[in-house]
Amino acid sequence: MSKKLTYQELEAQVTELKAQSVVLQQQLGVANQIKTKSLQTTKLLQSLVDTIPSPLFYKDVDGIYQQCNDAFSQTILGIDKDKIINKSLFDLGEYIPHELAVIYHAKDLLLMKNPGKQVYETSVKCADGAIRIFSFHKASVLDDDGEILGVVGVMLDVTELKNKTRELKEKNRCLETYSTTDPLTGLYNRRKFNTVFPDSLRVAKRSKRLLNFAIIDIDNFKKYNDNYGHVAGDNALVTISNLLQGKLLRADDYIFRLGGEEFGLLFYADDEIMASEFASDIRLAVQELAIPHKANETYRYITISLGLVTIKRNNKDMLDLYKMADDLLYRVKRSGKNQILAKIV
Ligand code: GH3
Ligand code: MG
Ligand code: MG
Repeated sequence: MSKKLTYQELEAQVTELKAQSVVLQQQLGVANQIKTKSLQTTKLLQSLVDTIPSPLFYKDVDGIYQQCNDAFSQTILGIDKDKIINKSLFDLGEYIPHELAVIYHAKDLLLMKNPGKQVYETSVKCADGAIRIFSFHKASVLDDDGEILGVVGVMLDVTELKNKTRELKEKNRCLETYSTTDPLTGLYNRRKFNTVFPDSLRVAKRSKRLLNFAIIDIDNFKKYNDNYGHVAGDNALVTISNLLQGKLLRADDYIFRLGGEEFGLLFYADDEIMASEFASDIRLAVQELAIPHKANETYRYITISLGLVTIKRNNKDMLDLYKMADDLLYRVKRSGKNQILAKIV
């Protein structure tokens, strides 16, 4: 049996209930304020992410899109957000090709298995039909207990960057070719020679191969120009250059136009006899081109002379070896042309 309350006790309880109701009202007010604030914050965040021109998305642990921005819905898929939210990659088969969905899904799973960050690049067909390259930056989202909630992702359009990088590489390659090539003959120039020769000396030393260096000079070429004209001279230089280039036997044999009617030849041989034979073969081949040169003393055709150095004891530097070959050439020219003078060092 409950005890009958006195009037005072009832009044006290009413007062208490009124007080509780006031507190509840206040709490409701605060809750409403928080709700309004939270809605505002959500709206603020949404307009913020929609203002970001890079596509953004958030997928939950089951791979279901929970959030995305305008750039993602409009630029990438070309559909409204409400057609994306609560869908998986595979539900969007109309907009995301299956093979790409498989890749993205596998990457998501990997990230959820190993929480952290993930970056990769892939081509994406955008809503306007253009195929663009995107760098995907993804990160796992964890709750306070470290449980995985999902995956956020930003897609950076790197198409222009890639194109510019490719263009730049191509330009650099052209520039490199341009700066190391002789424009008339297409042969490597002296600048290239200055880097290749020391490199070849090092390689030869390391690999114990027999490197040879020859300076080749066209005989009485001034007279050729005088008789046949400068254009004919140029043509002869091109013809001889092509022949010399075609004579190279190994990938690391080189011919350079050192200047004027002078060429540098770097080649490997098994021994000094083979080296000498190779040089002779070149000399004869030029003679056999049979380019008429009536002022070329007794030969009547264009001929060349060579100073050949076979580098057995590889202890000299490029300048010493150059001087030796040049001295040999000088002696050849004085003792009659269309010859080779060779030396082993
Ligand atoms: P030597 O047998 O002693 O080498 O006599 P040479 O006349 O060949 O040598 P010289 O050094 O007196 O002359 C080289 C000539 O090569 C001078 C120049 O007319 C010619 N020459 C150099 N470069 C070019 C070129 O690019 N085109 C043409 N057509 N001639 C060139
Ligand atoms: Mg000459
Ligand atoms: Mg010369």
